[in-house]
Amino acid sequence: MVTEVACPLCGESSRFLEIRNPYRDGHIADYRSLYGSRTKSDWKACGTCGFVHQNPRPSIEALNAYYAAGDYHASTPPPLSWSEPGPYMKFARWYYSDKVEFAIAQTGLRTGRVFEMGFGYGGALKLFEERGWQVSGREPDGQLAAFAHDTLGLRGPERGFVDDSVTGLPPVDLIFSNHAFEHVADLHGVMAALRTIIKPGGYIFTTVPTYAANRSNMSLRWMNSAHYSLFTRRSLDQLVARHGFEPVVSTYRGWRKEIDDVWHVARYTGKQLDPTASYEDPAAVARFINWVNPVRSLLFAPVFSNYHRKVQRVMYVKEGVELVARRLLGRR
Ligand SMILES: [Zn+2]
Repeated sequence: MVTEVACPLCGESSRFLEIRNPYRDGHIADYRSLYGSRTKSDWKACGTCGFVHQNPRPSIEALNAYYAAGDYHASTPPPLSWSEPGPYMKFARWYYSDKVEFAIAQTGLRTGRVFEMGFGYGGALKLFEERGWQVSGREPDGQLAAFAHDTLGLRGPERGFVDDSVTGLPPVDLIFSNHAFEHVADLHGVMAALRTIIKPGGYIFTTVPTYAANRSNMSLRWMNSAHYSLFTRRSLDQLVARHGFEPVVSTYRGWRKEIDDVWHVARYTGKQLDPTASYEDPAAVARFINWVNPVRSLLFAPVFSNYHRKVQRVMYVKEGVELVARRLLGRR
């Protein structure tokens, strides 16, 4: 069952602005045990800091138990071809390489220790390992963690949550996370745990979906029951500022293959910055989502609707042409 929560970033408990989400919640059927008879998740902008989050929502305990059980596999099984490392790594190279390269370039680190929060199938960590990094991480879903271990041969990363139990790990130079923070119910708990394993001067790279600077309606469809938060550059600034990290760089245009996400790099200095400096105007946030975002999606639709599918189609065509060319040339 869902309950009303305080703003997961600033703690505001009574002032919220309604956010209109015109889209069907395509995920809620997977979370029936958490949402009962509701057909949609509800989203609000915090009346103090402007942070957009699911509210009311399931309790942190219920969510953790749900993720650990990996129940959602029933409706979204992994592609069959991924039982082999080859086809999966081909996808992973396409999906993660730009992000891994960006994190390495923006931090100026060549190699070191990297920890990934929510490493999924392990593709990004595999790319770091290929580049000479020592890899570690946590992934709550046992099925995914087993794939990373058994199929990709990754030995450092383990199944589990990012919580008090990570404190025993050796300190890392870089924390990496890809589309993970939007699934985190206890943001400050996770940041406190990450802080215990980051070296002084180390970095955190975060990429998450966003509604801001949108080019498609995906930006609003991110507001579904699989997610609890929708960040912007500024709300990520606020999150890290509360935990001794200083923002370094962020962009809404990091990846040309997919759209409506934000990339963010911050450095751990231990200095507590003023989080209120990163607050957004709640009325402006609500106005943007309710009015400006849908208009932008319409204007950009000719190019960017289902952009990832278009990119994928181009990839398939290119592969097909290469295959035919190889056959014609009699090579394998
Ligand atoms: Zn707030």
